[in-house]
Amino acid sequence: MMWDLSGRVALVTGGNGGIGLGMAKALAANGAALAITGRNAAKNEAAAKELPGQTLVIEADLTAKGAHERVLDEVRNRHGRLDILVNNAGTNIRKRPEEVTDADWETVLDTNLGSLMRMTRGAYPMLKQHRVGRVINIGSILSIFGMPFSPAYGASKGAVVQYTKSLATAWAAEGITVNAVLPGWIETELTDGARATVPGLYERQAARTPMGRWGKPDDLGGIAAFLASDAAGFVTGTAIPVDGGFAAMG
Ligand code: NDP
Repeated sequence: MMWDLSGRVALVTGGNGGIGLGMAKALAANGAALAITGRNAAKNEAAAKELPGQTLVIEADLTAKGAHERVLDEVRNRHGRLDILVNNAGTNIRKRPEEVTDADWETVLDTNLGSLMRMTRGAYPMLKQHRVGRVINIGSILSIFGMPFSPAYGASKGAVVQYTKSLATAWAAEGITVNAVLPGWIETELTDGARATVPGLYERQAARTPMGRWGKPDDLGGIAAFLASDAAGFVTGTAIPVDGGFAAMG
């Protein structure tokens, strides 16, 4: 029963595919009512078919002005509360540091960090209302490791972890826990792009991963359900790798 999310409402940004959808399915399987966001209408429609019928699907570009307020209003109007916020939407522009433009930097930092901050700040009044608030921020193993082709991404994901710790200390007294999840190499649209341009990437990174394979989106479901649940009520301010042992290799 400690994992039971009945009566709780979860919002998963970027929940229309990849890791977000894997997490959304796990939250729903444990009883949470759901809202997800995504930019792509066709993907939103396909994701809705994999999720419970009453799932609220919101089309939104979270870097657009006022988007987070509209999303949170829709969640409030449909579900009347928000207990679990999964800040998962994210992007990467793969370039070496000397090639990164101001526009690249802005896009990656605003998607991965700025929009996460705006959504979390906007959700705070609802998250504290029932003293069971949960924020789950999606970082990356690149929150800790460097990679030559992802400088803006690495900067944004490193900052996600520090932001997570600040929030955890600020909101603990209000019953809100805030944790980061750091996925390793996971098979999604995001990494399909990298695999298409970097020959042998899958094999190389699988070989560096003690479990010998990349993760699937569903491999991230358990950690989301756990962190969202009462079982994790005393867990806050952490950054948990879910990476088949990649981070343990140092
Ligand atoms: P996907 O590309 O499958 O999913 C990314 C999601 O973010 C999509 O739903 C996408 O929506 C949404 N999104 C992107 N930009 C915006 C935006 N401006 N506004 C709103 N939504 C946006 O990739 P993943 O599932 O891999 O990525 C999910 C998270 O996991 C990201 O934060 C990523 O950095 C992180 N991660 C992924 C790893 C991996 O190996 N795959 C490893 C470590 C971390 P749409 O498709 O509709 O545009």
